[in-house]
Amino acid sequence: MSDDCLFCRIVAGEIPATVVLETKTILAFRDIAPQAPVHVVLVPKLHEPNAVALAERAPGELADLFVAAGDVAESEGIADSGFRLLFNTGADAGQTVFHAHLHLLGGKPLGHLA
Ligand code: 5GP
Ligand code: ZN
Repeated sequence: MSDDCLFCRIVAGEIPATVVLETKTILAFRDIAPQAPVHVVLVPKLHEPNAVALAERAPGELADLFVAAGDVAESEGIADSGFRLLFNTGADAGQTVFHAHLHLLGGKPLGHLA
């Protein structure tokens, strides 16, 4: 846990969030500024600054994030219509919280990224 990390503080219950799933290793909660009808952020309870660092230190937790994303897509009713999974990594990608997190977006056609 990092005291000055927003997502560590949400994991610790110090900052409220609308939690949609919690497992031993993962917390998933609704994004405060949703970019789609369904916008959930999935974070490992372990603090690493980005997804690459998480993959290096704890690859199993990276896999846990994807499994949890599938479970949330099911519970949100978008597993069949489709959804986007996204890691912003670094400033040019728009990463603003430097605790690895997987965005789950869906609930409408999202268009192509590139
Ligand atoms: P990033 O831009 O780092 O990829 O994603 C960070 C995300 O966290 C943003 O989509 C932002 O809206 C969300 N966020 C920032 N602060 C809070 C907060 O206090 N609570 C919740 N639930 N989401 C937050
Ligand atoms: Zn953190």
